[in-house]
Amino acid sequence: MNKKIWLSSPHLTGEEQKYVQEAFETNWVAPLGPNVNGLEKDICDFTGAKSCSVLSSGSAAIHLAMILLGVEQDDEVLCSSFTFSATANPIRYQKAIPIFVDSERDTWNMDPILLEKAILDRNSKGKKPKAILLVHLYGMPAKMKEIMAISEKYNIPIIEDAAEAMGAFYQGKHMGTFGELGVFSFNGNKIITTSGGGALVANNADYCKKATFLATQARDEAPHYQHSEIGYNYRMSNIVAGIGRGQMEVLKDRVEARRENFDYYQKAFAGLPVTFVEEAEGFFANRWLTTILTDSYNTREMIRLALEKENIESRPLWKPMHLQPVFEEFPAYTNGVSEDLFERGLCLPSGSNLTREDLDRVVAIVKEVLSK
Ligand SMILES: *Cc1c(COP(=O)(O)O)cnc(C)c1O
Repeated sequence: MNKKIWLSSPHLTGEEQKYVQEAFETNWVAPLGPNVNGLEKDICDFTGAKSCSVLSSGSAAIHLAMILLGVEQDDEVLCSSFTFSATANPIRYQKAIPIFVDSERDTWNMDPILLEKAILDRNSKGKKPKAILLVHLYGMPAKMKEIMAISEKYNIPIIEDAAEAMGAFYQGKHMGTFGELGVFSFNGNKIITTSGGGALVANNADYCKKATFLATQARDEAPHYQHSEIGYNYRMSNIVAGIGRGQMEVLKDRVEARRENFDYYQKAFAGLPVTFVEEAEGFFANRWLTTILTDSYNTREMIRLALEKENIESRPLWKPMHLQPVFEEFPAYTNGVSEDLFERGLCLPSGSNLTREDLDRVVAIVKEVLSK
């Protein structure tokens, strides 16, 4: 059997152990401690966010973002349909209603025209959505200028799900720092990883202070355990944060490596019937995953199965939320784009630890299928 090539596997440096070791030696194994504070500072320094709270997952960060913006039962939240389910699930944790909005073709993210249409239609039904939950899918920034203008016009705050977008920028500003709140994930397959973890960032430091409070069981200030609010056990541990500190040292390199993968595939497939998402002026994608759009479902499947046969992992693009059995009862404003992308698109192996040899194996198989 050929060596397995993964879609996106963890890429550690060894530097992580320095921070983890320190935590062991100083017995800072419990939540809180120098690595937690250090990682929060590293994230602020890298992204330009004013404040940060590191958490047990990106999902926890989205859940706390819902709570911080006061999303409650039966409130409506506008949400990108073309995403991973973890974006939308926390809306339901709050028993709120996701209102799905389809994608545009340029970035594959939330379509601003459809977003405005959705808001007007909700307003005409007497509803005012509480938040816009916006995703930067595969590390490609959404059309922030247009979406920010709509957010301001209708006075609806933005939560950026930048779980896939660490190291991605729009007009020089890091994703996750445009909205009221931004979310990152350090899950095992993301651009950097802590084995599992996430972060909430905000320019208003009160949000992160409150997030940390809620994430540590909402303890009031008292010598005994006193609680006036429902809390959560969502804080990142000091050990896990140590891995994160090591990974933050190489985030820039990881982005470079992933962007090089993208360039390599794009050059290799020049002239073949596949297309890539291009970066428009002012957009800087981290190219977390290189995605291709083929001419049909059949071609997509032929490529995927040919790769699988050679022990190479690839994956269809995210299945839109409005097509998921668990979400199909909720309103959706669609234009056919995400359904089309789901049908014809494929994620190629994109890890920052792929070798030239690995890439060449992928390229050869894709080329062979496309030339049939
Ligand atoms: C990974 C991911 C999440 C969830 O992050 P976890 O840390 O795995 O909980 C949320 N949204 C998107 C778009 C993701 O890719």
